[in-house]
Parts: sequence; C-alpha cells; structure tokens
Amino acid sequence: MSIDVEPLRKILELEHKKGYADSAVIGGLDRFLCNWAGQAIESITNPQLLNRFHKLHLVNPNYASLTKQQRKELVKGVLDLLTEVEHREGEKGEAKLTPVASRPPPGTRVQRVVNQSIDSPITVIRGISSSLATKFNKLGVKTVRNLLYFFPHRHLDYSQRKFISQLAEGEEETIIANVWQAQEIRLGGRRSTEAIVGDETGNVRVVWFNNPYLAKKLLTNTRVVISGRVSLFNGRYVFESPEWELVEDRELIHTGRLVPLYPLTQGLRPRQVRKLMKEVIDRWAWQVEDFLPLELKERCNLLELPQAISQAHYPENEAVKAQARVRLAFDELFLLQLGVLSKKRDWQESQPGSHFSAKTSVLEAFVKSLPFALTTAQQRVLKELLADLQKPQPMCRLLQGEVGSGKTVVATVALLMAAANGYQGALMAPTEILAEQHFATICQLLSRVGHQEEGEDYLYSYSGLLPHPLTVALLIGDINQVRKQELQQRILDGDIDIVIGTHALIQKGVEFHRLGLAVVDEQHRFGVTQRSALRQKGFSPHVLVMTATPIPRTLALTLYGDLDLSVIDQLPPGRQVIKTKWLKPGQRDSAYAFIHRQAASGRQSFIICPLVEESETIQARAAVAEYERLSQEVFPELRLGLLHGRMPTVEKDKVMRRFRSGELDILVSTPVVEVGIDVPNATVMLVDSADRFGLSQLHQFRGRVGRGEEQSYCMLLAQNPSEVARQRLDIIDKIQDGFELAEEDLKLRGPGEFFGTRQSGLPDLRMAKLSDVALLELARSEALRLFEKDKTLEAPEHSLLAKELARVWQQSDAEWS
Ligand code: ADP
Ligand code: MG
Repeated sequence: MSIDVEPLRKILELEHKKGYADSAVIGGLDRFLCNWAGQAIESITNPQLLNRFHKLHLVNPNYASLTKQQRKELVKGVLDLLTEVEHREGEKGEAKLTPVASRPPPGTRVQRVVNQSIDSPITVIRGISSSLATKFNKLGVKTVRNLLYFFPHRHLDYSQRKFISQLAEGEEETIIANVWQAQEIRLGGRRSTEAIVGDETGNVRVVWFNNPYLAKKLLTNTRVVISGRVSLFNGRYVFESPEWELVEDRELIHTGRLVPLYPLTQGLRPRQVRKLMKEVIDRWAWQVEDFLPLELKERCNLLELPQAISQAHYPENEAVKAQARVRLAFDELFLLQLGVLSKKRDWQESQPGSHFSAKTSVLEAFVKSLPFALTTAQQRVLKELLADLQKPQPMCRLLQGEVGSGKTVVATVALLMAAANGYQGALMAPTEILAEQHFATICQLLSRVGHQEEGEDYLYSYSGLLPHPLTVALLIGDINQVRKQELQQRILDGDIDIVIGTHALIQKGVEFHRLGLAVVDEQHRFGVTQRSALRQKGFSPHVLVMTATPIPRTLALTLYGDLDLSVIDQLPPGRQVIKTKWLKPGQRDSAYAFIHRQAASGRQSFIICPLVEESETIQARAAVAEYERLSQEVFPELRLGLLHGRMPTVEKDKVMRRFRSGELDILVSTPVVEVGIDVPNATVMLVDSADRFGLSQLHQFRGRVGRGEEQSYCMLLAQNPSEVARQRLDIIDKIQDGFELAEEDLKLRGPGEFFGTRQSGLPDLRMAKLSDVALLELARSEALRLFEKDKTLEAPEHSLLAKELARVWQQSDAEWS
C-alpha cells in the first residue's frame, strides 16, 4: 500500500498560509496528522525515513498545544520529509510514498491490512509469535486492543538528565555519556560487564551483573543513556545493573524519560516488553476509534483517545500522563454509568410495570400489629417504597441498612401491598438458612394480624387480612420433589401470594402467575445480570434490593447507578454498642476462657472458623476438624453445634434451631454462613483469623451479636496480621458505624476487593479509582446529560459510543454467566 503525499502537502501549505492557526482542516490538525501518520507508517520501511518519521511524533503531534513557532517547525519538518520521500521515490519513477527497501509482494501486504483490526489476536503483530502470545494471554492480553490497554503499573522517572558531577548516592539518576571502555569481568564468580563512561563533567563506573554480552555492544565512543540508582563502592559512585540505551536516531524507551514498568509474567523481559509496546503503540494506537462525542471531550477537556493511550504508556511528562489517566478513567466510569443507565432504561421501558394502589387500611393494620413502632428511618424508607410501587414504571431500588436496622419488616409491608393488589411477591435470600429465617420472621409477623390457618412446614395461610387467605410459601432446594412440584404448580396457578426462597427462584424453572414485586436480600451476591434474568422470564416486576453492607455513596452510584437509593440510617432504639477487641495469637486461651464464663451465665457464643481459601469442601472439612478440636479439647463440658456450607439444609436448619432455642452454647461456623441469623441470647462473636477478612465482613460478623439486652462482645483473633490487616483491626476496634467503616474499607482495599466488581457483573475498572469522587461525578453527570438528549444512542454522532458500550458490557456479561 502506498500513500499519496499530495493531500497532506496541500493541507500543510494551507496551514502555513493561514498563519499556523490550526485551521486548515476541520477538527484541527492533530487528528488529521495522526490519521495520516497511521496510514503512512504502514508503507515506510526505509529505516532512515522511518527514523525521521518517528522523530516528528506524528502519531501524537499535540499540534493544538504547540506555540506558533513550534507549529511552524513541525510543518516544515513534515514538508521536508515529504520532499525527501518524493525525491527518493522520484528516482524510482513514482511520486508516492512507497518504501525503498525490499517489501513483500503488494498483494500479501494489502491482504494483511484488510484482515487486521485492533480486535485481531496479538499474533498479527510483527514480532509476536504464538509462544509469546501465550505468555501475554496469561496476563489477560489476547487482542491488539487488549495490548493497547495493557498499561504499565507505574513509571520510573528517568526524565531528568544529570551531569556526572551532579550524581548523588541513593538517587535514581539519568546520565548521557560516552563509553570510554567496556569489558567482560567476573563479579561474584559470574560473567558480567564493566564499563567506564564519561561526560564533560567526569567519569563513572557502571556494572551489569550476569550480563557479559553487553561488553560487546558498548563500543568505545558510543553514546549511551544510563538510568538507575547510584550507589557508592569503595568511595566511588557506581551504577549497578542500570537501564541503558544507545543514543541513536530514535526515541528513548528504557532511559532518559518516564519509563513504563509493565506487569510481567514468566518469560517476559522488561526490555522486550517495552520495545514491543512502543512499536505496537506507534503502529496501532491511532487506529483506536475515539468514541466520545467531540463536544463532550471539549467540555470536559479530555485528551483524544489515541493520544491518551500512547501517553499512558510513554508519557512525555507527568502532567500529560495525568491527563491520559483522567481520559482513560473517565471512559471507564462513563461507560459504566451509561451501561447501568441503559439497563435501567431497558428495565423501566421495555414492559409497563404493575402499578399498585395504596391499600392503606391493610398496610396500616399490619404496621399497627407490629410489636414495636417503626423508626423514623423505616417510616421514611417505607414512604419512598410505597410511592415507587404506585408508579407505572417498575421500581429499581436499593435499600441499605445496617444489620438489624429492620429492613425485613419494611420489605414485608411492600410484599403485602403486592398481595393486596392481587400480585405475587417473591423474597430471595442468598442462602437457604436465610430464606428459612425470613420465612419464619414473616410468618410470625403475619400471625399477629391474620389468623393462621392450619399449615405445613413450607406453607401457611392467613385469613382476615385480605379478601382471600394470604398464602406464604418457602421454596428451597431440599424439600421433597413431590412437594416441590406441587408448590411450583401452585405458584404458577397464582395460588400463592408470597414466595420465599433463594436466588434459585429466578434462576431455575420457577414460573409465576403474576409476579409484581421481587425483593432481593444481600445485594453483593446478586448482580445486574441476574436482575435482567427476571425480565427475560417475561416479568417487569418492581425490584427491591436489600443490603446490609453499607456501601459508600460514590460506590453505590457507580455500581448501582441503575438503582434508586434508600437508606435506613438508624437502628431501633435500645441497641447496644458491641465491645470489640482484637487479640494477639497468645490471647487465644483467654478468649476461650471468656466464652466459658459467658456460657456459665447462660449466654451463647459464635465462633467463626479460620478462613480457608480453597473450595467449600475443604472449608467444610477444616470446620469439622476445628469443631472436633473445640468440643473435645477446649469446651468438653459445653454443647457445641457446627454449621458449614456443605451440610444438607435440613441439618443446618436443625443446628440453627437448636442454637436459637438455647440447646447449644456455642455455634461453630464457617465464614460462608455469615449473614442474617438472629439470636438475641448470643453475646460473643469470636472470629478466628480475623486478619483475613475485610472490614465490612468483620462488621457483618459483629452484627450477629448485640441483638438482645445483654452486653455483647466481638473478639477478633489475628494469627499473623500484616500491616494492612493491623490497620483494619484497629479501625474496626474504634468504629461502630457501618458506613464509616465502609469508607475506610474502600480506602484500604480498593473497590475490586471491597465489593468484587466482577461478582456484580460490571466491567472492570483499571484506571479509575472510586476514591476519585470528582471524576466519578463528572462521568455520571455527563452520562445523564447524554441520556437526556439521546436515550437510545441512536444519533449518528453517538454510533461509535453505542458500539463501544455494547462491546464493554457484552464482555462483562459474558464473564458473569
Ligand atoms: P435487617 O434485615 O435489617 O438486618 P431485621 O429486619 O431482621 O433487620 O430486624 C432485626 C430485628 O429488629 C428483628 O428482630 C426485628 O423484629 C427488629 N426490629 C425491626 N424494626 C424494629 C423497630 N422499629 N423497633 C424495634 N425492633 C425492630
Ligand atoms: Mg436481614
């Protein structure tokens, strides 16, 4: 493929005539030059020309920000290059930019170009063999696009050149020097290279351990750049195994600049990756289509995408690097916002929801019958919910509230409203134990206001509340098949008003007659994608998602931007402060002694087993062993029970019931069984290997106790706490408030770990930090603004954006399923 130089020449001449005002082409010269360069580079193979070409920096010319004088020089540089090209080509009778050096037959070249896109596998890149590709695959890099987005985790600042006389011990320094002499030597028995290099201010010794081959490359009088830490040896400065690079006619990539450090895997060497990345960026970055609308970019002052990508790898300086990061982070947050907003749009607009009527008298009767008065926060949230439920669009609401803040009661009112309107309601919990507990709680509350008909373990009816008997069913995995089928049939017939179960309710073949409201407990195990599963079943029910994990507002807006937010920020009166202490390994016995004393005065305790990383089976086995150790060696005279994820539900249920009714003194449990269990007489929570849990999770454990009148305690045993774990334990020691803890957790761990973005079915965030509230808010407001104008992204100027959005979200959807 050859490139016609004429159009570019004309443009540049026009630019010259217009006084370098960047007005020769619409949209500015940057984009034009970048595009042109991208095409041209394909056909230049003459090394000299290539060098000159690279030095012009056309892939990322930054023309807009140059001074008039600099623009003039750049234009002149390009025009000179064009002349040179024509001159050379003229000799061959062609006025085109075709390479002088040998090249493959035209046919193959063209074909290669046609077949390549930035979504091609990385093996299309010259120099990437399939074995190299395998190594990159291990790092999650499969396509050229992945490679362009394979950003360094940091940069070394070798940008400040020093003279040898200015070197300081212990500093990272960069010098440019002449090689006086280089030779192979033995250092510590290993073949190494030693060189003496000098500049006009002095000489310095440089050694490279274990690398004798360098001696041959560093010929006397070669100019080299050396970047690395300066140490002192026998009273003299020396560079030990620094980065080095010959001063040639091309850009520096290992030294003398901000040098990228890439994540590596076995068999990938830093210099190799840097060199490769530089080539890939020069060759491909310009091909990335910038999907942000121009007007948005200008308003938010964002870099062009190709420029941002290349600057994120090989930044000219810290300032541009920061700008590049902002652009790329903005993209992530913006696409995430657009994604959640479009899910909300699909949710609310695809099918009309069922709007309920108020049914005030029924609901009031229920609330009046409660053994307590609702807190102000509960009342406020209830109002928000009931208002949503009376609207024609399906509700999407996230209800946050501490453990024990009384979310279940509020949800029950909403379920009752659905039933009173002739719809079905479903309540889904992450585990069967929790589903059973919800079932028990709700039945108990209903029995205060309705007359409980004769029922079975999984099914109760209440008369006197609605015109028809209100039927509540528990549908979980291990009830017998016949009963299960019967229940499912009755759900399908619309015979059952409220169904309580696990998330399997929506995942496996349960068909509803008229599902009007779905309540989902514990959001962090229930992603956006699962919500969509409901709709795919043909329902657009109102959805209420409940979580006891306090989510910092920024995170909530990002991850759950599709949900409206309600917060119960108040605990029922009389809740006590739980005394929290973290203990050192040596204090294990005193913890056990404390549990003994509590048991002697009739109190119960939880013991959370050490966390075993591997499978649930291994976790279960470890729990059994720990349970046996505790029952035989530590608490032989007490009654212990065991809970782990591998037990059949009936067994779990039995143990839970025995603990709740006081037949057991101690409940030993795996961390899996963390959520929601309510036992007022339990006063001690002992968490083993507490240093392995996050703050929010520890807070969840702590929430298991303190449900009754008695002073309660949370003891955190740390085996071998790292610095971070120690900080965490200190914080939980001091802070009781879940939201405050969540903010801290986010700071300490970052959002991925805090909340598993993967788990939630959302695209990964690499550049964006959720602590960057300002950028997050900008991304959100821009997404909302765009949505107001063009909700379906149908406008032509949004077509690239729509494509990118689909690409990013499709990937994360696929990862989820
Ligand atoms: P959550 O689901 O938010 O953890 P629950 O709804 O399970 O909390 O409520 C925890 C306990 O507090 C339950 O025993 C419940 O009956 C009780 N409760 C709920 N609301 C109130 C209130 N306003 N006053 C007193 N107790 C309440
Ligand atoms: Mg709960």
